Amino acid sequence: MKTKGKNDAKKKKQIQNGTMQRSALMKLFEDELKDIYWAEKALTKALPKMLKNASAPELVEAIENHLAETEKQVQMVENVFELIDKKPVAKKCEAMAGLLKEGEEIMKDTEKGPQRDAGIISAAQKVEHYEIASYGTLRTFANTLGLDEAAAILDEILQQEKNADASLTEIAESSINVEALEEAEAEE
Ligand code: ZN
Ligand code: FE
Ligand code: FE
Ligand code: FE
Repeated sequence: MKTKGKNDAKKKKQIQNGTMQRSALMKLFEDELKDIYWAEKALTKALPKMLKNASAPELVEAIENHLAETEKQVQMVENVFELIDKKPVAKKCEAMAGLLKEGEEIMKDTEKGPQRDAGIISAAQKVEHYEIASYGTLRTFANTLGLDEAAAILDEILQQEKNADASLTEIAESSINVEALEEAEAEE
C-alpha cells in the first residue's frame, strides 16, 4: 500500500511537471508572439523610410512588395493571438528597435544612390534574418504545443521572410553591390 501511494505521488508529480512544461512553453510562445507583433508594427513604419531612401527601381519594388506583405503579416499575427484566445499585445522588441536604429544610421552616413542602396539592403537583410529566426522558433513552439493552425500561419510568414531575404540577396548580387563598388572607385 505504501509503495502504491508512493507511485501515485510520483505519477502525479510527473503529470504536474508535464502541465508545467506545457504552460511554460505556452508562456514563451506568447511572449515571443508579442515581441514579433511589436517588430512587425515597427516595420510598417520603418519600411516606408527605407523606401524613400532607396534609388534602384528593383530595390524600391522589393521594399514596396515586402511592405504590403508586412502589413498583412501584422493581421496574420493577430490571427495567431486569436487562435490562442489572447488579445493582440505588442511588447517592445529591443533587438528590432536596435536593428532599425542601425538602419537609420546607415541611411544617414551614406550618399543617396548605389552606396545607400547597398546599405539599405544590408540593414533590411539583418531584419529579415531576425524575423526568420523568430518565426522559425514560433512555428516550432506552435507545433510542439499542438497548435496546428497557428503553426501553419507562422510557417507561411516564415516563407515570406525567406523570400524577401532571397530577393534582397539577388538584387545586391546582380547590380547594386557592383554599382556601389564602381561609385567608390570613381571617388578615389
Ligand atoms: Zn523581435
Ligand atoms: Fe515580417
Ligand atoms: Fe525580440
Ligand atoms: Fe520581413
